[in-house]
Amino acid sequence: MKLFETLADHGHERLCFHHDPITGLRSIIAIHSTVLGNALGGTRRWAYTDEAEAIRDVLRLSEGMTYKSAAADLAMGGAKSVILIKPGQAATEAEGRAMGRFVDTMNGAYIAAEDVGVTPQFCDWMAEETQHVMGGETVSHGGDPSPFTATGCFNAMKACLKHLGRKVDFSGMTVGVQGVGATGYRVAKLCKEAGAKVIASDVNRVALEKAVKELGISAVGDNENIFTTKVDILAPCALGGVLDDRTITNLKCEIVCGTANNQLLHAIDDGARLKKCGILYGPDFVVNAGGLIRLAGLYLGMTETQINQKIEQIEHTTTSVLKEGNGAHSTHEAAVAYAKRRIEHGRAQRVEQGHESGNTHKGANPNQITSTAS
Ligand code: NAD
Repeated sequence: MKLFETLADHGHERLCFHHDPITGLRSIIAIHSTVLGNALGGTRRWAYTDEAEAIRDVLRLSEGMTYKSAAADLAMGGAKSVILIKPGQAATEAEGRAMGRFVDTMNGAYIAAEDVGVTPQFCDWMAEETQHVMGGETVSHGGDPSPFTATGCFNAMKACLKHLGRKVDFSGMTVGVQGVGATGYRVAKLCKEAGAKVIASDVNRVALEKAVKELGISAVGDNENIFTTKVDILAPCALGGVLDDRTITNLKCEIVCGTANNQLLHAIDDGARLKKCGILYGPDFVVNAGGLIRLAGLYLGMTETQINQKIEQIEHTTTSVLKEGNGAHSTHEAAVAYAKRRIEHGRAQRVEQGHESGNTHKGANPNQITSTAS
């Protein structure tokens, strides 16, 4: 892999490797952009098949965080970190603390948070070593972001309905939810409370039965598939890459709007395919920004009211992006363009202020309560 060429291809700023000789921790932090501010992004613990796969993942995920922050109008850049583990390797406090020390060497340019394989407990272990972590069990670190992600997704659904000229009235409507975990359960609850009929699927039978019992929703039949079930809105709230040439052509919904990250297997082709099939796609990184807004907002010193207003704004942002999607190959493409415009605007402002590269420098972000980025 030609590392510098790879970084230049997508505009990444930094790729940092760390090995902790005592715990054996092997970790990578990728900072894609600090143009709009220092960068918050989750820490993923994953058994990668090799180092190249881990590098590709951290580069891809960090770039996605830049667009998510920019589209959410946050004074934040984009970054992500990964910890390379062996299959089934349990997390330990020593590992969490070693990761926290690595995060601390970034001096606030990178702020860690939860991601796949990282629990609130792990965030709290990291927080023993650095103040640049959000999303642990304690409220001061933001707590669980998933209720905010679900609320943002529900707000985006309203924008999708309006875009299609439909009444924003969930009664009489059917919503399909794939995955009733932390976010999907709450999306199902919000839709059900608003009067929708909700049908859900989950590979975890216990989680599915719990949602059915507690929320009064129904489960897809054993031989049925949520992606081919006739619904008004389909909310993928489990895995990435679920929308591809095979699933899209079999969809029986008008709208796709869910919390899962990277729903399009091939962003460009599958975004365009959805449009061609007449299905309105709420771009995932716009729709699911509520949790990020919550954690970044607290980190930046915003009040609860300001944070909630920004989560409400997801409806407005989705509306703008969907409109722009009319003249683009896809709503995904429109969302990326929307985020890039915000970044370029921020870069131009920073250059005007005398920061030639346009990247964040020490103390440059007035909202950044702990900004010490280099
Ligand atoms: P979670 O692990 O709590 O829930 C995911 C659920 O999906 C689980 O119940 C799991 O059993 C189920 N699932 C897995 N594979 C499935 C399949 N093939 N079919 C049906 N169900 C399946 O995760 P979460 O926090 O709800 O996150 C869900 C998605 O949303 C992820 O893609 C995540 O990256 C994204 N996301 C989450 C947040 C957040 O605040 N938690 C924020 C932004 C994006």
